[in-house]
Amino acid sequence: MLTGGCRCGEVRFTVADEFRYAANCHCSGCRAATGSAFKAFAGIERSKLEITEGHNSLTVFGDPDANDTRCRSCGCFLFSVVRDGQYVHVAMGSLIDAPSIRPDHHIFVGSKAPWYEITDDLPQFQEYAV
Ligand SMILES: [Zn+2]
Ligand SMILES: [Zn+2]
Repeated sequence: MLTGGCRCGEVRFTVADEFRYAANCHCSGCRAATGSAFKAFAGIERSKLEITEGHNSLTVFGDPDANDTRCRSCGCFLFSVVRDGQYVHVAMGSLIDAPSIRPDHHIFVGSKAPWYEITDDLPQFQEYAV
């Protein structure tokens, strides 16, 4: 089991080290949401993530089954609920423990930041991976 959480420490979650996929998303939404060149995220069934501390410190942007979830106190991006609420995309930067999985491809490279150069050899997709 992996632990994750926010910068201020109010929110902690656990997630099974059983991620199904992981990628770096370069879309404008992920860049804005993270304030970074891309978002490294890892997908897993929602049932395998549990909030262990700070249930009342969450801010949910969006709908119960499609949202970005952040810490209300420090604003840190924790995870997104996706795929009709069945999966979560954990913002990998919110993981405190290292997961077994590594991002193994880049998506939405067609809209990546012009100031950022991808310097690895991982597969690149213009939009979603096919
Ligand atoms: Zn926080
Ligand atoms: Zn994205």
